[in-house]
Amino acid sequence: MGRKVKNLKLMMKNIAEDIKTVLEFYQAMGIERIPLNTIQDTGYKTQDKKSHASCILHHASALNSQQKRDALQALRDEIGDCQRCKLSKGRKNIVFGEGSVDAEIMFIGEGPGEDEDLQGRPFVGKAGQLLTKLIEKMGFKREDVYIGNIVKCRPPGNRDPEEDEISACSPFIKKQADIISPKVVVSLGRVSTQTLIGVKIPIGKLRGKFYQFENIPLMPTFHPSYLLRNPKDKWLVWEDAQKVLEKIKE
Ligand code: SF4
Repeated sequence: MGRKVKNLKLMMKNIAEDIKTVLEFYQAMGIERIPLNTIQDTGYKTQDKKSHASCILHHASALNSQQKRDALQALRDEIGDCQRCKLSKGRKNIVFGEGSVDAEIMFIGEGPGEDEDLQGRPFVGKAGQLLTKLIEKMGFKREDVYIGNIVKCRPPGNRDPEEDEISACSPFIKKQADIISPKVVVSLGRVSTQTLIGVKIPIGKLRGKFYQFENIPLMPTFHPSYLLRNPKDKWLVWEDAQKVLEKIKE
């Protein structure tokens, strides 16, 4: 009996320490009010630094612009000089992603190409110019939206990223989406769409309809590289873009 009470006391002490640490963390982030169920939902454990990071991310929508910038910088620091997959071997630059932290729309492609690898920026080659035109046609400037990729290093010869590379890298773009909390994610092409919604259906069948990605509506559409090869399908992408514009007005 005495041992049971001792264990119970120890458990209560650990819980109290966990709660204290979570509250100190929120205070440090400048968050003064927390809904009661927030702490229950975090799954935070003092021993687990990753839980600490996910604690930030699960509540990213409560973050202001500066806090989002800080969280993105913390994520970039966590990625560091990443060697988590074999794409690290041939890359010149890690292409983290760029754009407004308050973006209403986030575009996610599959991976950097040659120009992107050289410049360290997403969608700056020919396909990127087409994406920029689409963004402008939708009534935004490129810097109003956020643009990233499923993998952050260039696959050799612009091949598709492989499963192990996607598994190693895709948690980062998912965290970026959590931090930015856009109104809509637009997934560009098969790899991005299948990774984010977790299905293996061809992009031609998936595009044009909304799916749910981490509580964010996601619209799949064709990758701009595909449109460079198949310009006749540009109107389909424009149709998808119009649905996105309607969605962000809701
Ligand atoms: S692709 Fe992603 S996981 Fe792989 S080395 Fe680059 S940053 Fe790291």
